[in-house]
Amino acid sequence: MLCILWDIDGTLMSSQGAGTKAMNDAFEACFGVANAFDDVAMSGCTDPWIFRQGYDRHRVTEPFETALARFDAEYRAALPRRLASAKITLKPGLPALLDTLAGRPEIGSGLLTGNFEHGAETKLRAAGIWQYFEVGAYGSDDEDRNRLLPHALRRFRERGRPFEPARTVVIGDTTRDVACARAHGAKAVAVATGGHRMEDLRASRPDLALSSLADPAPLLAFLDRLAKAPGAPAGR
Ligand SMILES: [Mg+2]
Repeated sequence: MLCILWDIDGTLMSSQGAGTKAMNDAFEACFGVANAFDDVAMSGCTDPWIFRQGYDRHRVTEPFETALARFDAEYRAALPRRLASAKITLKPGLPALLDTLAGRPEIGSGLLTGNFEHGAETKLRAAGIWQYFEVGAYGSDDEDRNRLLPHALRRFRERGRPFEPARTVVIGDTTRDVACARAHGAKAVAVATGGHRMEDLRASRPDLALSSLADPAPLLAFLDRLAKAPGAPAGR
């Protein structure tokens, strides 16, 4: 029994910055500041954290939670508009790899993403791959990416699919994806198809670093080794 938790942006797909543009649209609609996020390095960050950068930089005076709620509502409207005019591309090897994994019932596929839940669904539906994921953990669950993994495992458990962190694999394109796996004793697979360069990903010491998922063999071999590995010691 293995669980795979996928990052979205830069790992599964890209959308020509539609998310960033929609965030800028939403911030301008709420607070009258254009291009509020242009200097914010967003890769691997959660949507609430990204919003907080704009909130702080542009000195929004209303309470954070009410400002975030208004921003979220505007973003919910802006994202589909921006996606509709963007070129959406799946990363190499997808969706074939997702099909392969879907044929293995011992493997659970879920999401671990900084996107708001509705943003994740909107992007993945636009890319045609939303149906592959049973559950997810989202930026709307917690501003801190390092606290997201237990939300995904809890949702699997609620569906009768209990997975251990030691048999959970986070796949992502940034060092933050690696860190959020490590925070809970999960495995980390880094893929250099998005936010961070291979040398930086390697420096974060993932269990496996791949230039892309175009060739699924190294990842599938890694999963097979993990499936056969002895279980975690009792009491952990
Ligand atoms: Mg990413």
